[in-house]
Amino acid sequence: MGFHTTVTGTARIGADRELKHAVEGYWAGRLSREELHRVAADLRRSGRQQLLAAGLDSIPVNTFSYYDQMLDMAATLGALPPRVAAIADPLDRYFAAARGTADVLPLEMTKWFDTNYHYLVPEIGPDTVFGLDAATVLADLAEALADDVPARPVVIGPITFLGLSKGVDDLVPLDRIDDLLPLYEQLLTDLAAAGAEWVQIDEPILVTDAHDGLAALAERVYSRLSAVAARPRLLVQTYFGDAGDALAALGRTDIDGVGVDLVRGSVATVEAAGLADKLVVAGIVDGHNVWRTDLDAALAVLTDLRPHVGTLAVSTSCSTLHVPYSLAPETGLDDVLRGWLAFAAEKFDEVVALSRALTDGRDAQAAAFDAARAALATRADDPRRHDADLRARLAGLTDADRIRTAATQRQELSRAHLALPTLPTTTIGSFPQTGDIRAARARLRAGTLDAEQYRAQMEAEIAAVIALQEQIGLDVLVHGEPERNDMVQYFAEQLTGFFATANGWVQSYGSRCVRPPILFGDVQRPAPMTVDWAVYAQGLTDKPVKGMLTGPVTILAWSFVRDDQPLAQTADQVALAIRDETLDLQEAGIGIIQVDEPALRELLPLRATERAAYLEWAVNAFKLSTAGVNDETQIHTHLCYSEFGDVIGAIADLDADVTSIEAARSHMEVLDDLNAIGFAAEVGPGVYDIHSPRVPAAEEMTTLLAEALAAVPADRLWVNPDCGLKTRTTAQVTAALTAMVDAAKAVRA
Ligand code: GLN
Ligand code: ZN
Repeated sequence: MGFHTTVTGTARIGADRELKHAVEGYWAGRLSREELHRVAADLRRSGRQQLLAAGLDSIPVNTFSYYDQMLDMAATLGALPPRVAAIADPLDRYFAAARGTADVLPLEMTKWFDTNYHYLVPEIGPDTVFGLDAATVLADLAEALADDVPARPVVIGPITFLGLSKGVDDLVPLDRIDDLLPLYEQLLTDLAAAGAEWVQIDEPILVTDAHDGLAALAERVYSRLSAVAARPRLLVQTYFGDAGDALAALGRTDIDGVGVDLVRGSVATVEAAGLADKLVVAGIVDGHNVWRTDLDAALAVLTDLRPHVGTLAVSTSCSTLHVPYSLAPETGLDDVLRGWLAFAAEKFDEVVALSRALTDGRDAQAAAFDAARAALATRADDPRRHDADLRARLAGLTDADRIRTAATQRQELSRAHLALPTLPTTTIGSFPQTGDIRAARARLRAGTLDAEQYRAQMEAEIAAVIALQEQIGLDVLVHGEPERNDMVQYFAEQLTGFFATANGWVQSYGSRCVRPPILFGDVQRPAPMTVDWAVYAQGLTDKPVKGMLTGPVTILAWSFVRDDQPLAQTADQVALAIRDETLDLQEAGIGIIQVDEPALRELLPLRATERAAYLEWAVNAFKLSTAGVNDETQIHTHLCYSEFGDVIGAIADLDADVTSIEAARSHMEVLDDLNAIGFAAEVGPGVYDIHSPRVPAAEEMTTLLAEALAAVPADRLWVNPDCGLKTRTTAQVTAALTAMVDAAKAVRA
């Protein structure tokens, strides 16, 4: 029984982002629905063929999505929100739930575990009427079976689905699990009737501490689902970490297989879980990062595990949704660096090599193993991974390098130095990234604009943004970040130790993709990265211009990071580069410097026991990056996600002089949370939501400021939007900021 070689799931956006272009074309009315469906079917077919050709003997299907897999599951379970129910056409209804329409708000979006992928959050209330619509799942299966593909449909499991949903009217979604199980039972019956031999039910929530009693719940749910009479073989798949007690709980049920993450989870947990009569799908090839697998080490783990399980299959640790498609387009890579990497296509080959070595012996796969060994050997002593000067500098750091003078004393000094009004107004950094700006960058890349012309155009843009801010009457200005393609990539391109891919796109949400840089070596800053732009902007105005940097944690969170040293060490390397930049900015006369850390929450470990250690190094890295400046230089930071609860203490520990933070949509709630922990520094709770094109009225912001003043004294309060303005138009920004300054004036009076 069973299979031997598979992957947990795959990306679906297309190696050249075909789905992105098709979906956006469809939304814009440029592409017909038939054309959209054709692109999708072609992508599914070529994806299956690629896996078959690589040598996999079980192929995941129903992993395709027009937007998001959680949204697909909500549709399958009849759990789209009632506000889209009136939209008769299923595809229009689906996209309405994803993106909203003129009349309905979309579902909220949030991060998928600790990845940079965002899923849509289903809304489940006491009145949600579940109803199975298996059409898409069955169609994907039928399409694959028609091509003679050994297809294994994949669906999100009931615990994960409800566990990640948002409760409406005080309902805890998981409380409705018994209403959902009959639908899963029916789905299993339907899939068996349609010819599925195996079904994969994804339960990544089992590697988290998101709810109490998950292991017991898993045992109950899968005892029941495995009792369905005529069902396919049932594989419960975990990923993104160690499933702990839940594995043994699953082992006590009559399911047929369990999928485990052996990259982030421990093999000992699996061996102890009582899986001797089950198929264990061993996720030994990393689906979440880009490094080539050490095949010898991986084979040793598999060999060790084999006697403890029924059948062993080799797989990826999670879906390859989270890594780029293939190394083939990366022609800018040197051969040494190429040898260290494996994107999705290369990972498929690694899975097959391991599986065959396990059955036929390592010698049968000598070529693959030799190549892996040789490539990895070059990694051991590559000078780019060990910069002696940097290592010496890091070794010489002391606690004093992360500690500034007492905050109250700094506040007095910077106050005298900056002479700001009460309730100073500012923005978060970026101004609209107009079509002209993006076109200039594209022309610079294509070589039709030279560096001088590009600089002149960016300077003109900065001058316009400075003039606009003076005209609006803001107190602390920004240069507007026109020269930045992205707040991480901009820095990665100027630091050593990073490689920016040519085509390494990864889906972020819906049709949006990002191209995370690869952090492969020691990080050095050969030259200042932002000083010229800041100095140019400051030269145009008597108001203070805030220097703008991205913090070390966010740079790591939005890159692929090296796996050969603790993340804390890598973070300190990046922090030193940022620290040097703050010193150069200060030297050049910039008196306020903002170090953004919007991703502080994102890297928070899924297991509660690991959180304190993470927060310690994350906060330490931020402090290393900011504690070098003089007492009168004001350090700002910016954070923007709505759930601050788990990191609120860490926000205070950052010891920034001013913290701007998303707050408009949650009615300044974060201020109470900050008060509760005795936060005493200056704070700028966002007074309007920049995600919407709507221009807020001054009165709304006056009200929010009054609410804020109930929590924070006037001498600690700043006035600013929730986040940067790069996605808005100049007209929207002008109107909104004018109203914001009016609101500040009204409240000051
Ligand atoms: N300074 C950045 C900007 O304004 C911050 C963006 C962010 O928080 N994601 O665009
Ligand atoms: Zn932000």
